[in-house]
Amino acid sequence: MYKKIFSINWLLPVLILTLSSVVHAAQVKDIRVGTQSGSTRLVFELSGAAEHRMFPLSNPDRVVLDVSDADISQSVVNDLKALSSDALMRVRYAKRNNGLRFVLDLSQKVKAKSTVLAASGEYGPRIMVELEYGASQSSTNVIKSLASISNGKRDIVVVIDPGHGGKDPGALGQFKVREKDIVLSIGRELADRLNATPGIKAVMTRSTDEYLQLRERSRIAREANADLLISVHADAFTKPSARGASVWALSLSGKTSEMGRWLAQQEKETDLVGGISLDDKDQLLAEVLLDMSMNSTIQMSLDIGSKVLGNMRRVAVLHKNSVQQAGFVVLKSPDIPSILVETGFVSNATEAKNLGSRAYRVRLAASIAKGVEDFFTANPPDGTFIAWQQNQRGGSTYTVSKGDTLSDIARRNNVTLDALRSANTLKNDVIWIGQKLSIPAS
Ligand SMILES: [Zn+2]
Repeated sequence: MYKKIFSINWLLPVLILTLSSVVHAAQVKDIRVGTQSGSTRLVFELSGAAEHRMFPLSNPDRVVLDVSDADISQSVVNDLKALSSDALMRVRYAKRNNGLRFVLDLSQKVKAKSTVLAASGEYGPRIMVELEYGASQSSTNVIKSLASISNGKRDIVVVIDPGHGGKDPGALGQFKVREKDIVLSIGRELADRLNATPGIKAVMTRSTDEYLQLRERSRIAREANADLLISVHADAFTKPSARGASVWALSLSGKTSEMGRWLAQQEKETDLVGGISLDDKDQLLAEVLLDMSMNSTIQMSLDIGSKVLGNMRRVAVLHKNSVQQAGFVVLKSPDIPSILVETGFVSNATEAKNLGSRAYRVRLAASIAKGVEDFFTANPPDGTFIAWQQNQRGGSTYTVSKGDTLSDIARRNNVTLDALRSANTLKNDVIWIGQKLSIPAS
């Protein structure tokens, strides 16, 4: 009798220990790095409150951040090595006393400060670590999120976002065609096509019939380090005669057609305000991002959009012959070129029948994929497999910088303006900073 009670008492602490080593108060769900001249910020996103302490060490310079009673998600661990900035060489971590120890290895002395940002809305608490080290030689602002940044042969990441889903069916059309179903099907086909292209990787925001908030869709795109976001939709209009596919990019000016306003209204979801959804980035980063890239991002979106539209024309009737602009909230990621493809009107009998047919959806997806491939073949981002492959073939590319004009570039490379235009399928001489131009052999 005595012996039995003893054994239970002995077992109990063991059980509690075992349990507590599994269930933590908080989990590190994501770590983001933002850099601007002279400072680097890391934001550790937690699922719940956790105590932390931070202290610097020298020889070599590093900062230690201990987070007690916390665990880390495997996806964060996998991508930890991608975190760096001009002062931050890498982030290491170890499990320690039921908590986590992060070591930030530095390339120089920094002044480090940590702040806890309280949970707000659907966001958990965050620990923000600021590393101050004075002006650096580069004034370029960069944002790196955890997803892979790599070895010079990375895949171009295209995030495909089939609209609506789950409790939100989207537009309801003739022949019981539902927008959420057809856009998921087109999205899947598009992903398959793109994944079959060496150097391009497709990531879907949803691959099942589930409801996603817009914020969640842009979070997926950011975490995947997307080079492009394609949101796929179909629409219904009060007049059954309305028809035609269209491609949309964000408008900053607020100027937009009547149809644009109407569509943007249809696609708006209740969980978002009209402004740019950046509330999970801190304000400073938000401003930096907006300033630096909104305009060039939109220009690039328009260019990708016109390649997509040019290919879709072979399959679908077009609503408009050029890329349209409107204030779609889903397109408002300032650092990711984004287009919205309206595949047609399910309120129109012919288009509902088309979109209800798998064969048509496959052809449409193939045309969108072709547009994306055309654009990235002509404009491969630095460090990608496609850029590497083109260099191997001996073709040269030129990255447009401030003050360049197309005729200057032609002259400097000993090619004619016409040859340069046609090598890059340019309809006019508008170029933008950061644009990659193929330079034909002279
Ligand atoms: Zn829609």
